[in-house]
Amino acid sequence: MYRFLKILASLSLATVLFAVLLWYGKEVNRRAETVVWAEPFLDNIYIYGENVHFTLEPGFGEDVLLINKQTRRYFRPSVYANQGLYLPELEDGVYRIYASDLSIQAPKDFELSGYTITRSGQNLHYRFLCEQERLVLYVDCALALPEEVFDIIIDAGHGGDNNGATRRGRLEKEENLRASLYMAELFKAAGLKAALTREGDYIPGQPGVAEADIDPYVMGGRVYLAYSTQAKYYISNHLNASTRQAMQGWQLYRSVQADAGWQQAVAANFISFGHTPNDNFKSFGTEGIYRRYSQDNENTGSDYYYILRETGGKLTKPRSFIKVHPEIDLRQGAEGLLVEYLFLDNTDDLDYWDENWRGLVEAVADGCLTYWGVK
Ligand SMILES: [Zn+2]
Repeated sequence: MYRFLKILASLSLATVLFAVLLWYGKEVNRRAETVVWAEPFLDNIYIYGENVHFTLEPGFGEDVLLINKQTRRYFRPSVYANQGLYLPELEDGVYRIYASDLSIQAPKDFELSGYTITRSGQNLHYRFLCEQERLVLYVDCALALPEEVFDIIIDAGHGGDNNGATRRGRLEKEENLRASLYMAELFKAAGLKAALTREGDYIPGQPGVAEADIDPYVMGGRVYLAYSTQAKYYISNHLNASTRQAMQGWQLYRSVQADAGWQQAVAANFISFGHTPNDNFKSFGTEGIYRRYSQDNENTGSDYYYILRETGGKLTKPRSFIKVHPEIDLRQGAEGLLVEYLFLDNTDDLDYWDENWRGLVEAVADGCLTYWGVK
């Protein structure tokens, strides 16, 4: 009898234990379900000029991102390509990167690196890498840029068989080249490493090519050079022409994806110089501070001017260049500015140019340096 009771007791103990274990197991499972959450996974990083944009999946795209060193720094994603995480503000060191307080996971071999522009004789070398499945950023001081890397690229518009605007035997391509060569001198004097899309009378990448066959996407062409030089800023120099001879004054075009910061710095200098803006295109903006949407595909929000659209990397939605050069890394692009100094086909403007072209180029260069924080 005693033995029977003993068996019964151990059985019920086993039942109770089993029940407890079963309940605990369920509880652990339930807790596990609530504990496991999705960490943000890096979709990609895009850089426009010196501004970083992170794209994350799934659904973390709008979250505030922070970068944590000894100090914590917060960055808000911006709709403007030329805002975001501004690389020159970072101190050297190693950064771990979070979104909504969760570390960002990156693909195993992820790597994206480059340089900020030269300020006080120094550059920052940045490297986004994946370490232990997490995105990290290394920032180091560099005392010089590698040979193939440039800060700025200056584009002398037109060239070769493409004269651009013409008046009284004057050719826009020649004025653009003169202005660009002088601008390169000014940037070099400010300690910047400046490249030119052309230094003579030819179409970049296509010497001897007739105007009808111009392809800006060829190897060595205007668009290709933006990526091969790794320039952070792209400035395209032009003189304007109009079917209405009364048209006068300067126009500045930025990408439709950017805010007007760069334009405003240059515009302020034009105005203090006494140079009047062209204000004829209300649909592009006012007082010469313009942006122009592509007419054929306005809904895509892309630029009308290929030089602004195709050179800015993924953020300016290049269309044609990708088809020609699928191997080019479009994760980094240059911030672009197209300057129309005045109307070459207007006689008053042309006289003004002849008297003041140096001062006007200086006004633009000085505005650029202000915007870039170089001086
Ligand atoms: Zn032009």
